[in-house]
Amino acid sequence: MKQAAKLPQDNSDRRDKYAIDVAHLTKSFGGRTVVNNVSIQVKRGEIYGFLGPNGSGKTTTMRLICGLLTPDRGSGTCLGYDIHDSAAIKPHLGYMTQHFSLYGDLSVKENLAFVAGIYGIANPRRKVHDTLHRLGLEKRADQRASTLSGGWKQRLALASCLLHEPELLLLDEPTAGVDPQARREFWNHIHELAQDGITVLVSTHYMDEAERCHELAFISKGHILDHGTLDDVLARANLSSYTVSGKGLDALAKKLEGQEGIALVTRFGNALHISGTDRQKLDRAIKPFQNRPEQKWQRTQPTLEDVFIQLMDKKT
Ligand code: ADP
Repeated sequence: MKQAAKLPQDNSDRRDKYAIDVAHLTKSFGGRTVVNNVSIQVKRGEIYGFLGPNGSGKTTTMRLICGLLTPDRGSGTCLGYDIHDSAAIKPHLGYMTQHFSLYGDLSVKENLAFVAGIYGIANPRRKVHDTLHRLGLEKRADQRASTLSGGWKQRLALASCLLHEPELLLLDEPTAGVDPQARREFWNHIHELAQDGITVLVSTHYMDEAERCHELAFISKGHILDHGTLDDVLARANLSSYTVSGKGLDALAKKLEGQEGIALVTRFGNALHISGTDRQKLDRAIKPFQNRPEQKWQRTQPTLEDVFIQLMDKKT
């Protein structure tokens, strides 16, 4: 069997500090580059979010980082092992995709016992018991998996990934199709796991979920547009924003779009978000429209969604 790649002695601090430390990862499929020069560091015990549209390269990036796919170019470590050494990394990895499968005819407890058996987990009864407790699944332990709601199924899928006590969790759009309350509870569990020292990589479409990550990366067409903490990313975007509510917003949006000083006009339900990177130019552009009786203007904090749309616009 291939030996785990050894890190140089003087790298031991980084090994302790970073669960992920990769540089210049690039991957093409059929001549099309889907991950382009991605460099990322993720601290141990951190929740790191990948945010981007469908097909932007989130899954491929996460799989490269964890050694589940081999990059065409680039290098780095995952949990201290060379990313080319997937055999060394895999035992420490828990992987949950949105297409997780459960055994519908088995109860919650039987599902976990079955997974524990397949993976030859030591002390399976104890481990199943502890995992049921860890994810608040005890009261559902004897319920058939097929009769669980989407949120409970998802929690059971997460429990299955935790039985072997991974150091790193890979969650690929884990909350797709789950109701808001179940999503919130799921995220509370993710935070508890991170507090226990598990590092979490998670991809999502949802801005509110991205805001719950310690750090996040915006991905578009295989490029990382920006990454860092929420505060860093918001500050770097340097956007000034207004929200307009009232009547005639579609017509107003059409007038504002493309004006000098206005980087972004976005419709949110009954409101418009208007943002620009130069406060004075933005204020000049909106002045002729601000005193209409049917509309109310308010200065607001830019949202992560504003920043993302602006970064995407810049790139395309
Ligand atoms: P995301 O997770 O953001 O939806 P993916 O990483 O799954 O994006 O996919 C990025 C692009 O790479 C997509 O266009 C997808 O069709 C393509 N792709 C992913 N995996 C493969 C593969 N094994 N073979 C060919 N194309 C792939």
